[in-house]
Amino acid sequence: MPRARRKPLSRRFREWRGVAHAMLHTEHPVQVHIVPMRRCNLACAYCNEFDDVSAPVPLAEMERRIDHLTGLGTSLITISGGEPLLHPDLDAIIARIRRGGALAGLITNGYLLVRDRIERLNRAGLDYLQISIDNIQPDDISKKSLKVLDKKLQLLAEYARFDVNINSVLGAGVRRPEDALVIARRAVELGFIATVGIIHDGHGQLRPLNAGEQAIYEQVKRLGKRHYARFHQFQDDIARAEPHDWKCRAGARYLYVCEDGLVHYCSQQRGYPGIPVTQYGRDALRREYRTAKPCAPYCTVACAHYTSVLDQWRDPQHAPATASMAAEAPAAAELVQIGSASERE
Ligand code: SF4
Ligand code: SF4
Repeated sequence: MPRARRKPLSRRFREWRGVAHAMLHTEHPVQVHIVPMRRCNLACAYCNEFDDVSAPVPLAEMERRIDHLTGLGTSLITISGGEPLLHPDLDAIIARIRRGGALAGLITNGYLLVRDRIERLNRAGLDYLQISIDNIQPDDISKKSLKVLDKKLQLLAEYARFDVNINSVLGAGVRRPEDALVIARRAVELGFIATVGIIHDGHGQLRPLNAGEQAIYEQVKRLGKRHYARFHQFQDDIARAEPHDWKCRAGARYLYVCEDGLVHYCSQQRGYPGIPVTQYGRDALRREYRTAKPCAPYCTVACAHYTSVLDQWRDPQHAPATASMAAEAPAAAELVQIGSASERE
């Protein structure tokens, strides 16, 4: 049997404290994704979240944004990109998140991980790291491949003191769905959390998994059963491409902060509400908490689902979404990560 990685008691305590805080009060974000730079060292063919030119956001500006978010009572701040390991002050950004009392997460393609980099992430206080692996052998779509990254995973297994989540993918455009199971098994073998994402068709629409993909989905689900149990219905509806009945609390409980420092509902609904994060306050949180999102039934943004679970049982949504957003609905995200800490690497 694989050795499960033991979570430190202090992290468990901070997690439970965050959940309790979220259950008791609704006027603070539970999870924020924040982008410190848009540049990436890869160029996955399906990705619309990177460029190869942009500069890192200066540390002082990142700290200003983080301090505001922790001042609002945010429980978890996850750094994404682009490729955040390219940011020269990443360790200081992580440390600032921890100093503000939030849990710190990181989404990376893993290419730049070496022993020293992992140990620096330990020292900075990182709590979670996620890598998405798309295939076993690199191809023209993606180089995020088990063959390339397995050495990095071994280093993580040996040196990381943070939780590691390995996400594999299924669905439209995935040439070898059976790769997802190999990747998930390797993740579990190394003591990591294994999850699976479902990619949509080229028009961003939900498409049910075929019988073979469904079987693989079920097997990965069993491998990651500890993580899946809590979100069973959402996962299964997405896999069958059926609408899911839920209240999206994006803009309130889940925020996406881009490199320009603007708050967006999520990576797939950029532009709404489009307010600078340092000006984002309780009024905006209250308003967006109550705002129904027209894209919710077919939404695939896993983090928004997870954070919204806490409030599913309370407070109906009645405020209308902005007219421009409603006109574009339903907007489906390209990729959902089921059972993971964020929606995409
Ligand atoms: S999916 Fe990740 S690794 Fe690939 S180009 Fe986009 S940001 Fe970079
Ligand atoms: S795409 Fe999903 S997370 Fe984003 S605003 Fe719509 S329902 Fe919410």
